Amino acid sequence: MSGVPAGKTGVVTVNLKAIERNWKALARVVAPAVCGGVVKADAYGLGANRVIPALSRAGCRTFFVATADEAVQARTLSAGATIFVLDGLVSGSEAVLIGADAIPVLSDPDAIREWADIAAGRNTRLPLAIQVDSGLNRLGLTEDGIHSLSGEEAVWHNLDLRLVMSHLACADEPNNPMNECQLQAFQHLSSLLPAGPRSLAASDGLMLGKGYHCDLVRPGYALYGGQAFQGGRTPVEPAVRADAVVLQVRNVDAGQSIGYSATFHTAEPRRIATIAAGYADGMFRSLSAGDGERGGSVVINGKRAPIVGRVSMDLITVDVSADPFSGLKRGDWVTLIGPDLPVELVGSSAKTIGYEVLTNLGRRFARVYLDGEQD
Ligand SMILES: *Cc1c(COP(=O)(O)O)cnc(C)c1O
Repeated sequence: MSGVPAGKTGVVTVNLKAIERNWKALARVVAPAVCGGVVKADAYGLGANRVIPALSRAGCRTFFVATADEAVQARTLSAGATIFVLDGLVSGSEAVLIGADAIPVLSDPDAIREWADIAAGRNTRLPLAIQVDSGLNRLGLTEDGIHSLSGEEAVWHNLDLRLVMSHLACADEPNNPMNECQLQAFQHLSSLLPAGPRSLAASDGLMLGKGYHCDLVRPGYALYGGQAFQGGRTPVEPAVRADAVVLQVRNVDAGQSIGYSATFHTAEPRRIATIAAGYADGMFRSLSAGDGERGGSVVINGKRAPIVGRVSMDLITVDVSADPFSGLKRGDWVTLIGPDLPVELVGSSAKTIGYEVLTNLGRRFARVYLDGEQD
């Protein structure tokens, strides 16, 4: 592996050009609706400090983060952008939000009143987005909540409503009737609020068609190459790979066990590679494979080799007895996520989703960013 800082046992390679192309491709899908970019959780673990400038270069002017801290970081990286903060207002965050010129997404009538009071106290109008609950029953204003606010002229007087949004529960499943139900609930709840831009769809929802695009879409995962939508291919390319170094390759006799708790046994002699990637690097422990179980895998020379035994904190053990792996040796690199091992597959092998894999990936690995045309 070229370009890996000395001493690093693993590397996450983020192709910023691919992220730019992905944003542009999604922007084309949803035009004339506007395409934003969700960069919460350090741009899904990939490094907001590099991803936000890349998205800005592509043309993205609207970012969603989760917390006020993330908004401060996003503001330093994108002077003129609109920044929405999905977690809204928490105790003490108002000065940070206002200082970063960030817009809280508010879901609770009392939070909206509080924000209006803060505006009144500063003799100004403050921008906000409102999230309504169209059926996810997570964050969102209910119809009762909307009615409770509708008579409060003073509240609306001090506020500048920039976006009304909601979030879909089952948008990855195109035939799930809940999508249409939520769309209708969203339209109804929106109609009870002042006019302004509307947003419903994330990466998967934008694939449900025009009706779901409204004025603004909020993809995150798809920008990073994720394929959340199950009804067809989202027109994005992989943007992330992860590789780790081989620490040892050796023969293990028949009748031995491998790893903690001796969950895997060699029925015949095996060749085992030990690789410097464990659960502290985001290789979930659920990728382990005991006797007769199928766990995760890594890719070597374009072929998948199975993890055997327990994933430990820093290491995995992989069965490399098969022919395609015969040349593997200490110091070689194997692929944990890449073209032949998409993040969705790693997620399903770990009994989770690609999102959780991405956001846990390689916390102590090097990050290498590709941003040249050659990539
Ligand atoms: C995280 C999030 C998104 C982005 O979701 P993806 O599936 O990554 O596109 C959009 N909207 C809300 C409210 C979110 O929390």
